[in-house]
Amino acid sequence: MKTIGLIGGMSWESSLEYYRIINEEVKRKLGGFHSARCVMYSVDFAEIEVLQHRGEWDRTAWILSQAAVRLEAGGADFLVLCTNTMHKVAPQIEAAVNIPLIHIADPTAERIKARGFRRIGLLGTRFTMEDDFYRGRLEKKHGLEVVVPDEADRQLVHQVIYYELCDGRLQEESRKKFQAVIEKLAGAGAQGVILGCTEIGLLVKQKDSPLPVFDTTVIHAEAAVEYALS
Ligand code: GLU
Repeated sequence: MKTIGLIGGMSWESSLEYYRIINEEVKRKLGGFHSARCVMYSVDFAEIEVLQHRGEWDRTAWILSQAAVRLEAGGADFLVLCTNTMHKVAPQIEAAVNIPLIHIADPTAERIKARGFRRIGLLGTRFTMEDDFYRGRLEKKHGLEVVVPDEADRQLVHQVIYYELCDGRLQEESRKKFQAVIEKLAGAGAQGVILGCTEIGLLVKQKDSPLPVFDTTVIHAEAAVEYALS
């Protein structure tokens, strides 16, 4: 079994999910007392969040690259960056180490294509929904058509992620608002929706969604186990 290197803490609420799913998945596949070999470097999200909103991405890249270097030195065979948004600096992290990084958008796109879907909704932070690093990868590398909410809904989703989900609060009212946003994505022709923020799955489950959901936390954690056991 390979050792998984997790860059976590963005937020810790979702890193906890990664740790749980990865261990459950190893146990499911290997049985008995098996659990995952892994190391986690968990950052202080307060520092990252300020830099994101100031647009100081180079500084975040430096912090996460240092985390990656430490994970490699600590025995990690590959890296899993436990957030969609920070894949904005994935190329800089990859350049800092000699071990591979499993990009969160890749296994997600594979699942979508395996379902035969082509037009897909995307929910996430403003950075994930608007910048090219994520949508661009889904579109150019994987041939998907990405639909995002309108400006007001993008603002709503972004605010709920930072002020509620990353703060450990799950509110029924926000779940309903997310459902309405997903309805609109369905109206725009989306065949499914990517929960493209690692905390959204805490709030919105498949039963809450009018469209099939692709929860990036679950998909990424499962892809990590598959690679660790390959
Ligand atoms: N965990 C979130 C994501 O998947 C948002 C927090 C962050 O900005 O890293 O994008």
